Formats: sequence, structure tokens, C-alpha cells
Amino acid sequence: MTTIGTHRPTQLVIDQAAIYHNIATEKARLAKGTDLFMVVKANGYGHGITQVATTAVKAGATGFCVAILDEALTLRAAGFNQPILVLGITEPQYAGLMAQKHISATVGSQDWLEAATTSIETVSPDQPLNVHLGLDTGMGRIGFQEPEALAAAVTALTASPAFNFEGIFTHFSKADSADTAYFEKQISRWQAFMAVLPERPRYVHVSNSATSLWHDACNGNMIRFGVAGYGLNPSGTELTAPFELQPAMRLETKIVFVKQLKAGNSVSYGATYTAQQDEWVATLPIGYADGYERRLQGFHVLVDGHYCEIIGRICMDQMMVRLPHEYPTGTTVTLVGNDHGATITLQDVADYCGTIHYELACGFTTRVPRVYLN
Ligand SMILES: *Cc1c(COP(=O)(O)O)cnc(C)c1O
Repeated sequence: MTTIGTHRPTQLVIDQAAIYHNIATEKARLAKGTDLFMVVKANGYGHGITQVATTAVKAGATGFCVAILDEALTLRAAGFNQPILVLGITEPQYAGLMAQKHISATVGSQDWLEAATTSIETVSPDQPLNVHLGLDTGMGRIGFQEPEALAAAVTALTASPAFNFEGIFTHFSKADSADTAYFEKQISRWQAFMAVLPERPRYVHVSNSATSLWHDACNGNMIRFGVAGYGLNPSGTELTAPFELQPAMRLETKIVFVKQLKAGNSVSYGATYTAQQDEWVATLPIGYADGYERRLQGFHVLVDGHYCEIIGRICMDQMMVRLPHEYPTGTTVTLVGNDHGATITLQDVADYCGTIHYELACGFTTRVPRVYLN
């Protein structure tokens, strides 16, 4: 991935040992014979797709899930030869390319199979397309709606030399909640679908991170391990993970400008912050164009273990914080991570701006270089 911004001290520091720990610990908890496919969509949740994939394989992952075909092609181009499942619906015109590259497709309707056949026969006559049938048991996003439609599609799928029936799966919408009623409703729909299946394909999978952490009895023989692999709790703060998740992402920068702001003077667009007394203010080279949300005005960063308030509007490329006293330019500033015993988690940042850590992690832009530890 192209990165710019290497001549500026703003960076995401990714601890590969943390990713290794999270995946290896989860893998060790799984029933024997259960595969772990690491979900590396959206540039590995912002952590870097190929670096995460490399660590994941070392930690015991035997395959990958991505959201779109381009992400799968990136892994193939980087030399990964493990199974890769594209979780979203790919346009049928690319079925031949997927077959040729041994990339598995998610299919949610019989129409798709019909529309994809010509492309496979033309582009990949000797290598069938591996298909995972997606079942909509209550997520309401993609997948078969009724067992009858599934049964008909399985008949068509297994009769055609263009396809190999490799997997079947569903996705839960509330596996990360203490209230399990909706989860159980989805389980019973899943069972109704599975009852019409003449034989089970190689991979039967239902678990995202939350399902595998809190409902592992229903795992099937493969899990799609995503956010927890990056050390983030899928439930936010609602449920406690069965083992310590180690966050892999740290966001840091350095002070590039320091001044004493005189009482009565204001800061940033709209002059929304006015100093009540003389105070020390640092300018940081990061802004909303880097994925550090403008809504974080009033939140804080860490300087030398002190929580320092973000004052005034966050600009596209810069923002200001109030210091307890003067610090020199070049002083490290921690926006996410630990500093002298104090911590700001991605969860804290997400809570402040009313979103989830998933959105923030994948929202840091290409202008922020990823630097790898361990
Ligand atoms: C993104 C995704 C996952 C991974 O979810 P996490 O909550 O990050 O573990 C699993 N399955 C599907 C279908 C997904 O879209």
C-alpha cells in the first residue's frame, strides 16, 4: 500500500507480537481440527494486510477472509497460497479470475451461480470456483433466505463442473451481547438450513471473533477471527474476553510547535477555545485527514504521562493541546497507547466520539505510516 507522510513524526506503531499472542491463544482454545482464518479485510483493520497475514500464519492461521476480491488478489500477489474467502458478493463477471487464483467466493443466490458460469468456463476451464454458500439467518445482509432456496442451489452447484462446493456459513449480529435471545434465534434458523443439506462441505463456519470468544460450542470446523486478533474486544466493554487481548495498534506523534497562549487569546477555526489564563499549548502534526476524528475536540492525548486536553477545533492536518507546562518540540505524544503508566485505548477514543474501535482502526488513512515492532 502506498504510504505518504514518512517525513513527519505521526505514525501507527503495530506490535506484531500482540497479534501473534491473540491469534495463537485463540487457536490453542479451539477444538482439535478447527481452522482459524484470519480476517484481514480493510488493510487488516488498518494494521497492514500483508504484515498481519504473515504474523497470522506464524501464529497458526491456515487461511484468510477478506471483504473484496482486490484484497484477496493483494494476498496472492504477495505470495500467500493459503485458502482465501471473499466474504462479500463479488460481481459474477470476476468468477473466472477467482477460480484461476484459487480464491473462494461467497454466494447467496442460485442466480449468481448461473451468471458466473460463463466466466469460469472461459477464463478457468480446468479449475472450478470454490464456493461458500452464505445463509441469512438474521443478519439481514447477504445470503439465502429460505432452506428451500438453499437446497435448490446446492443441487445446481454440485451438478456443475464449474464449481466446487467448499463451504457453508452464516454471520451473527448479536454474538457480542449479554442478551442471547437473538443469537439463539439465528442458531435455530441455521439448524433449519443445515437440515436440508445432503452433505457437508469442507468448511462449516459461523464464528466471528465474538462467537468464538463467547459461544464457541457452535464454532463448526473453521472460525473467521477478526477484531480480537488485533487485540480489540468485539463487545466493546460489555463482555469480558476469556483471555487477555493485547491491542496491537499505537498512535503517536511529536510536538512540532510550542507557545505560551496569553489569557484571552483563542485557538483554531471558529475561535471555540479561549485561554482563561496564560497557558502552554503544543501543536501536533495530525488531523482529521489522518483519520483522527474532528469530533475528538475536548478529548485528550498523553504527553509525558499527563492527560492533555485537545483545545479548539481539530484541523485537517494539525491540532492543539494544552500542556501542564512547557515541553520542547520533539517531545513524544501518545494518542492511542501507553505512556509512563497512563493509557488511552482505542475504546476510549471510540467512546468519546460515539463510534466503535473497528471504525477508528480501519479509518486511519494512508498518510499515516505503519511501523512494525517484533
Ligand atoms: C468482518 C467479518 C468477520 C470478522 O468479524 P470480527 O468481529 O472482526 O471478528 C467475520 N465474518 C464476516 C462475514 C465478516 O464480515
